Amino acid sequence: MADEKDIDRTDDRPAYIIGGGPGGLAAAAALRERGVRAVVLEKSDAVGASWRRHYDRLHLHTTRKLSGLPGLAMPRSFGRWVSRDNVVRYLEKYAEFHELEIVTGVEVSRIEVSGSDWLLHATGGRQLTGRAVVVATGFNHTPRQPDWPGHDAYTGELLHASDYRNAEPYRGKDVLVVGVGNTGAEIAVDLMEGGAARVRLAVRTVPHIVRRSTAGWPAQRTGILVRRLPVGLVDRAGRVMSRIAVPDLEAQGLPRPDTGLYSRVKEGAIPVQDVGLIDAVRKGTVEPVAAVDSFEADKVVLADGTRISPDTVITATGYRRALEDLVGHLGVLDERGRPLTHGGRTLPQAPGLYFTGFTNPISGMFREMAIDAQKIARSLAKS
Ligand SMILES: Cc1cc2nc3c(=O)[nH]c(=O)nc-3n(C[C@H](O)[C@H](O)[C@H](O)COP(=O)(O)OP(=O)(O)OC[C@H]3O[C@@H](n4cnc5c(N)ncnc54)[C@H](O)[C@@H]3O)c2cc1C
Repeated sequence: MADEKDIDRTDDRPAYIIGGGPGGLAAAAALRERGVRAVVLEKSDAVGASWRRHYDRLHLHTTRKLSGLPGLAMPRSFGRWVSRDNVVRYLEKYAEFHELEIVTGVEVSRIEVSGSDWLLHATGGRQLTGRAVVVATGFNHTPRQPDWPGHDAYTGELLHASDYRNAEPYRGKDVLVVGVGNTGAEIAVDLMEGGAARVRLAVRTVPHIVRRSTAGWPAQRTGILVRRLPVGLVDRAGRVMSRIAVPDLEAQGLPRPDTGLYSRVKEGAIPVQDVGLIDAVRKGTVEPVAAVDSFEADKVVLADGTRISPDTVITATGYRRALEDLVGHLGVLDERGRPLTHGGRTLPQAPGLYFTGFTNPISGMFREMAIDAQKIARSLAKS
C-alpha cells in the first residue's frame, strides 16, 4: 500500500477510484485486469474502513459464494455467512492479491472537469488529474440522525448505530433502538442476548421480514431470481411466502406490512433478514413500540403519546450518501442525492465519471458491485 507522499509520482493519467471499500477495490481489480492503471484513493488508513467499524456480531447476510469480488473467491473456511472480521481479512487479501495501487490518507473533496480529464481536489490542497474517476465512497457514508424536536437538549445517552460495537456497555440497561432495518433489528437482538435489562424497538414503518435461508435456500438467491419479474407478481408471491415462513406478530406490535415486499424494495427499503428478531418479538424480549416523535429532557415521546425514559437510545436511522459536495455541481445526482447512473454507463455531461455501490438491490450489494466493476472496466478500457 502506498503512502500519501507517493501519490506525486503519478505522471501518467490513471483512472482514480475514490474509496477503498469492496466497491472501489473491485473496480480497481477489474480495471487492472484490462490493463488500465487504476489508483485507489482512500481517506482512512486502510482498506475496508466501513467494515472495520461495523458492530462485532455482524455477518454478511448474503452468502459467501454470492459475495465474492472479481478474480478472488472468499475462502471456504469463512463459512456460509462470513463474519465482519473475515470480510476485512478478505478485502486486505484482495488488495494484495491483485497488487492494487492504493493511496491511503487521501480524502477527495471535489471533482471537476478539466478539458478531457478530471481534476480531483484532495487532502492538503492536492490536485490530481485522471483520465476517469470511479466514485465508490459508499451508500452508508454519513450517519443520518433525524432532527427530532428536543433531541439536542435530551439528557439521556443518545448514539447512532454506527457507534455501536457490542452489548457490553448496555448490560443491565434499558435501551430503546430506533428503526427496524437490518441494523436496528440485529442490534436489538444483540442487546437482548448480551444482557440488556429491557430492549424496545421503535417502529415507524413495519418492515418485511424474511428468513435468511429456508431449508438451506438463501433468501438472496430468491432475490436474484425474482429481480427482473414484475413488481406486482413478486409482491403477491412475497405475501404468500411470508404467511408460510413468518408468524403473525401483530399482537406483539409488529403487524404484517400493508405494502408489497418488492414495491418497498423499489422505494429503497430492502427486507429485514431474520437473525433472531422474530423469536425475540414472539417471546417479548424485544418489544416493538411506536415511532419516536420528539424528546423532552430525559424522556422520549413516541408517536402514540407514550413517554418513556430509557437509559440509552440507539438510532438505527440509516446513512446519507453525502455526494453533494463531491459531485453535486456536475448534474449527476437525483433529487435524493443519489447518482443518476451506475456501472458502465456515464452521463453525457460527465463522460468518464462512474459510480458503484449506490444502489441497494435485493440481490446483494457485494454481488452488484462485482458486476458493476466488470461493466466499468469494459466501458473505461474502450474509451
Ligand atoms: C451493517 C451493514 C451490513 C451489510 N451487509 C451486507 C451483506 O451482507 N451483503 C452485501 O452484499 N452488502 C451488505 N452491506 C452493504 C454493502 O455491501 C456494504 O455497505 C459495503 O461496504 C459497500 O461497499 P462500498 O465500497 O460501496 O462502500 P464502503 O465499504 O463504505 O467503502 C467506501 C470507502 O470510501 C472511503 N471514502 C469515503 N469518502 C471518501 C472520500 N471523499 N475520499 C476518499 N475516500 C473516501 C471510506 O473511508 C470507505 O473506505 C451491508 C452494509 C451495512 C451498513
